Amino acid sequence: MLKGVKTIFFDFDGCIANTIEAIVSLYNEDFVAYKKFQPIKWWDINTWDFKECMCASREYINTYFNQPRFFNRLEFMPNAKEAIEEIKGFYDIKIITHGFKPNLRLKKQWIENNLPGIEMIGVNLKKYKDKSHIDMSDGFFLDDSSGNIRTSNAKYKAVFGDIYSWNEDWAGKRLCNWEDVRRELLG
Ligand SMILES: [Mg+2]
Repeated sequence: MLKGVKTIFFDFDGCIANTIEAIVSLYNEDFVAYKKFQPIKWWDINTWDFKECMCASREYINTYFNQPRFFNRLEFMPNAKEAIEEIKGFYDIKIITHGFKPNLRLKKQWIENNLPGIEMIGVNLKKYKDKSHIDMSDGFFLDDSSGNIRTSNAKYKAVFGDIYSWNEDWAGKRLCNWEDVRRELLG
């Protein structure tokens, strides 16, 4: 248990759920007949705006986030569900997640279906470029984006997951997987 910590703030995309895998799977399906198409493996993605998906514009990729079919194939990161269900016995959990309105609406539904009883706080991307307006002073914050981590007032914080272009600059604590998260929070 982390001393003096009441609330655990978890990011959603790229942290609880494997967003990259679902986006790449839609791309591989939809662009298969295009001349320059080459199938992409989700672990080959290292750009925030999916430049590796050459046949699709950034705007096109962004529309995936607002579609029910994206959420229909979205899966948990390995062991995330089990770890969260264990952690919620010891702390309050809040999911703090960025998105445009349609994305946040569908995401709320996904969380209600897959993590019943866990609160989600949507952060509208139109209005906020990070999560610094959320007071996390009583807690621990986990996010795969170092920008979100850096500007947060959380008492304790860590970057989640593998090294990507959007977090490679982070020299602080990194929890590489949900077993690491479990160990950090429950000991
Ligand atoms: Mg994220």
